[in-house]
Amino acid sequence: MPKHALPVTREDDFAQWYQHVITEADLAEESGVRGCMVIRPWGYGIWERIQRLLDDRIKETGHENCYFPLFIPLSNFEKEAEHVDGFAKEMAVVTHHRLVMKDGRLIPDPEAKLEEPLIVRPTSETVIGNAFSRWIQSWRDLPVMINQWANVVRWEMRTRMFLRTSEFLWQEGHTAHSTEEEARLETLRMLEVYRSFAEECVAMPVIAGEKPENERFPGADATWSIEAMMQDGKALQAGTSHFLGQTFAKAQNIRYQNSEGEFDHAWTTSWGMSTRMIGGLIMVHGDDDGLRVPPRIAPHQIVIVPLLRGGPEDEQIKRYCNELWYELRKQYAFGEPLRVWLDTKETRPVTKRWGWVKKGAPVILEVGGRDVAGGNVSVIRRDRLHREDGKLDSTVMAKGEFLDAAKAILESAQKRALLGARERMEASISRSITDFDKLVDYFRSGGKHPGWAEVQWARPTGAELDKVVERLKAHKLTFRNVPNDARDADGTCIFTGEPAVERILVARAY
Ligand code: AMP
Repeated sequence: MPKHALPVTREDDFAQWYQHVITEADLAEESGVRGCMVIRPWGYGIWERIQRLLDDRIKETGHENCYFPLFIPLSNFEKEAEHVDGFAKEMAVVTHHRLVMKDGRLIPDPEAKLEEPLIVRPTSETVIGNAFSRWIQSWRDLPVMINQWANVVRWEMRTRMFLRTSEFLWQEGHTAHSTEEEARLETLRMLEVYRSFAEECVAMPVIAGEKPENERFPGADATWSIEAMMQDGKALQAGTSHFLGQTFAKAQNIRYQNSEGEFDHAWTTSWGMSTRMIGGLIMVHGDDDGLRVPPRIAPHQIVIVPLLRGGPEDEQIKRYCNELWYELRKQYAFGEPLRVWLDTKETRPVTKRWGWVKKGAPVILEVGGRDVAGGNVSVIRRDRLHREDGKLDSTVMAKGEFLDAAKAILESAQKRALLGARERMEASISRSITDFDKLVDYFRSGGKHPGWAEVQWARPTGAELDKVVERLKAHKLTFRNVPNDARDADGTCIFTGEPAVERILVARAY
């Protein structure tokens, strides 16, 4: 049995293991405000990589970034009843704009009450819709395709670091179109951007599909999601794309004059991906030694650790490491310059080694006096940390040989991460369950790590759907989505016995 760097393994207690990864990999910590976290440099560095790669894709598909205010007047929300219904229970409200001292304590100044309370944005449909109504007059103004990177606040009752926080960072895209067809295409195009981003950059395989009616974004006509499978078999909704129809356009008066001179409401969409992605990254790629960051989103892809002993050869080791750093930085992988970090801290080398293992840097290069003398480097690959006998796999390579191989090592680690996760996901989706009792059995007998079930259903709506949702809820199960690439239905609905119309994923979920 290999010895592991974390005190709790995934098998022992997945939830505790998750918390340990966050702490031991220096990703984030609690802030003292419920559900709000401090994101530390390694965690934030991963978020910056996510931002950069996703932002490129958002721009490549024709969107521009802009910024809207953090505060939204309360009355803005009153315009769309269903939307406000969905968010009212988790809104943070600003009511005063000044504090005063009273009996030695600071309190909101009763004299400084705002005429209209301000909501800390939980999402920006309302405020952006308001701008759209000013920007859009004629068909010539359409489409409008924008995105913003921002923080939002939803006063969540049950919070968990990264996965569900009261304040989170995200991007939210908002678009307006002159036809329904164009808006629907946009919704699906951005879903595909999320799917390809998750798989190609985060090495996180996902299932893209449409959410059932009960899981729709408040006020949306249709919601699509990408769903990722965590190592405990649970599902994580990793991004959503909403077709908003004309609902928000009507509420916000987003009207335009078409080429015949008639007035019509625009068709709008919105889509978002958040810091939840980092929680998903941990639960898809973490192991009992900590996090493993796929190279494309690793803040540092290669970390050089000089093994300094306070002896006379230290100067030589430092010089050798500097050269190595310099030469590696000239190289490229995934079309970008390599991100190489020289760890010059005065910490003990063994502490550094395990620190980087726990953070999940893809490659750790250790350089001691013997490596310098032989013109070598000792290479630790985070994706194959242990040898078969359980010992740490540190391979001595000639420096030139490593320089030639660096790009290929990173690319292969990226590919292996995706393949491994995809194999695990595919092996854990049952597609053969044909009645409700067997579904319940499947999740029960799956023990600690059940997967997902793709079942056939008749797509009930309204009260009938609510009943089905309640039946699932009794077993802690939820609908995830109707996969876009699922086979056609050919049997009966496992909930109602009627002829099925499509296949839907059922899972425990975060
Ligand atoms: P929504 O606007 O509700 O569709 O949310 C967009 C995306 O943000 C979702 O797909 C989630 O991945 C993510 N998200 C929603 N709520 C939270 C939260 N409380 N903390 C972190 N991420 C969230």
